[in-house]
Amino acid sequence: KDSESLFGALFDTPPVARVVPVLVPLPVPEAYSYAVPEGMAVEPGSVVQVPVGPRQHIGVVWEGGDAQAVDPKKLRPITLVFDCPPLTAEMRSFIEWVSSYTLSPPGLVARMAIRAPAALEPEPMVEALRYAGGEPDRLTPARARVLDVVKEDVPWTRSGLAHAAGVSLSVVDGLVKQGLFETVFLPPPPFVARPDPDYTLPRIEGPQKQAASEIVETVEAGVFAASLIDGVTGSGKTEVYFEAIAEALRRGKQVLILLPEIALTASFLERFEARFGAKPAEWHSDLPPRAREKVWRGVVTGEIRVVAGARSALFLPFEELGLIIVDEEHDPAYKQEDRIFYNARDMAVVRARIGNFPIVLVSATPSVESQVNGQTGRYHLVHLPTRYGDAAMPDLHLVDMRRHPPERGGFLSPVMLRAVAKTVEKGQQALLFLNRRGYAPLTLCRVCGHRFQCPQCSSWLVEHRFRNQIQCHQCGYSERTPEACPECGTFDHLVACGPGVERIAEEVERHFPQARTIIMSSDLLGGVKRMRLELEAIANGEADIVIGTQLVAKGHNFPLMTLVGIVDADLGLANGDPRAAERTFQLLSQVTGRAGRTGLKSHGLLQTYQPQHPVMQAIVSGDASAFYEREIGEREKALLPPFGRLASLIVSADSRGDAEAHARGLRAAAPKVSGISVLGPAEAPLALVRGRHRFRLLVHGRKNSDMQAYLRTMLAAGPKARGSVHVQLDVDPQSF
Ligand code: ADP
Ligand code: ZN
Repeated sequence: KDSESLFGALFDTPPVARVVPVLVPLPVPEAYSYAVPEGMAVEPGSVVQVPVGPRQHIGVVWEGGDAQAVDPKKLRPITLVFDCPPLTAEMRSFIEWVSSYTLSPPGLVARMAIRAPAALEPEPMVEALRYAGGEPDRLTPARARVLDVVKEDVPWTRSGLAHAAGVSLSVVDGLVKQGLFETVFLPPPPFVARPDPDYTLPRIEGPQKQAASEIVETVEAGVFAASLIDGVTGSGKTEVYFEAIAEALRRGKQVLILLPEIALTASFLERFEARFGAKPAEWHSDLPPRAREKVWRGVVTGEIRVVAGARSALFLPFEELGLIIVDEEHDPAYKQEDRIFYNARDMAVVRARIGNFPIVLVSATPSVESQVNGQTGRYHLVHLPTRYGDAAMPDLHLVDMRRHPPERGGFLSPVMLRAVAKTVEKGQQALLFLNRRGYAPLTLCRVCGHRFQCPQCSSWLVEHRFRNQIQCHQCGYSERTPEACPECGTFDHLVACGPGVERIAEEVERHFPQARTIIMSSDLLGGVKRMRLELEAIANGEADIVIGTQLVAKGHNFPLMTLVGIVDADLGLANGDPRAAERTFQLLSQVTGRAGRTGLKSHGLLQTYQPQHPVMQAIVSGDASAFYEREIGEREKALLPPFGRLASLIVSADSRGDAEAHARGLRAAAPKVSGISVLGPAEAPLALVRGRHRFRLLVHGRKNSDMQAYLRTMLAAGPKARGSVHVQLDVDPQSF
């Protein structure tokens, strides 16, 4: 430093500006360099605003970078520093890790963790009343109660005082008028109340107690440890991890709970509140901007102690995160497949490792990956084999549809219809589950065989009869349901093929005209709000028969539900994806797990054409372990994850030829490395989406191969993406 200034003085050059690297939210591989203006204080992690070309962007000051390499004349200054704590070293390491693992631009990953903190209007002060002494002109019993309450010298809000004294507001107002109170102003109440670990102490006994103490131990140890709670639906897993949360709170740590469908789990928030006396802060994409701003701030400053959020909550820059819970860890919703492709479950484990604190994964049907980690001891396994209290698992039976076919034009077997009738007669609830939105998945012309396909995707148009539309579930394209075939012009010969939930509802209404039915599907007009209300209505027993997609499968507690009927148990098995069996098993277990959670005798019926299929056998036998052993064995043989590694490259372009040529070019550029091979290119499972043609390359590597290095080399050596060509990289793809 000294020699530098001496040097400057000797040669009379202007002082060298301090130069720092800044990550900008653009698809570029590295940080850009910026000058720090005189008097501006920045450090690594500072959230700043910087110019890039003609525009201003939000960015994060980073470390390293070769400042000398920048031409000082081209250097532009940082515009401003936002008034918020800088990202911690822990958070910065996490961002770098995610960026290099997913091969995503670091600035785009960092963008998920920062916000330009808007200047929030300060919350107004709260007007309050303080007893100034004296007596009222007339002492009515109501007035006496108010005076009893205010004897201590603490201020009260007007309504708080009326409530505490059990009198109407006018009584309080009358006393105010007589000058018995002075007005004082109090700071606004905190945005979120602090959860209290000892607000209620639940009775935890037996297997729950053992499980809880093992998990609480990892929180006490306060270092990285991953646990997996593997317990049947209703076994009390939530209650067990609440104990871990309580311990983390006692130790002054912040807690993150990841949930797959947070927007629909109002009941979870209430349950948390019942245990801790305050709700956790929510974080998901339906959050209004102001709430989003407040939660982000509260997390950064440490004011908020617990967040329950969707996968993106993993990138919140907590001040002192000390525990992560990943509930329903197997859920596909944890995988983001947009811009940055990442699995929040896996990245959560990384975050816990970098931050050196414990993480708890929770599921009734753990992913094969987590099962294997449990078996090899990488995760500490905790089992809860039976339901809590006197609730029993539902009795599960297969309905062989070859032997018990539905009547013509129907999809429900007589066996199923009888079971529904019996349930409704008893005043209990039945759920008919079909994971298919709309009325019918395909519309066909009986005369010429024309099928209605999306003009810009390789998918059929799905009929939605309530809306009188046919829709593409890929891109949202829709048109009015046609009356004539566009191919042959014949009227009234279009037929709906196969069922969706709307069609099942129609069948139910035909058979049970008196029953109260509710359809639960994401197509409901009214969105999340309406869905929350419907879920509440179901829980309150305001429906006899519920017809639903996977929206009803997750986490809900419906006390009266004693029958779960799976309309098409084979549905998920047909698509040729090696993960199909696992996914189907998980979904079916979860749906049937909605039945009988409060001790009523309950049943599950699964309509299938393949009763011998291992998934069906695993479900009805209640023995998941045989199924998992088989799945794990097959993955191991084929060196599929977690016994090998996979990445997929989707090459898309406006023309089929361009997409294919580029994919071939990449394939040709693939380096020769033992243990890694490239499959394809082949048309991607969805060959056309929104008018873009898609080809896929699959890179398969042995467990310890350096996939990231391989992919980087391949992309660098391959053709540059030009024109409409785009390459999307997905490390650890969901389907393969
Ligand atoms: P899971 O998360 O495994 O599906 P839950 O934690 O939701 O199971 O528990 C199932 C039901 O049992 C819930 O209604 C819950 O309130 C109740 N329950 C579980 N553990 C306890 C406990 N220790 N004390 C009281 N009720 C409990
Ligand atoms: Zn489409």
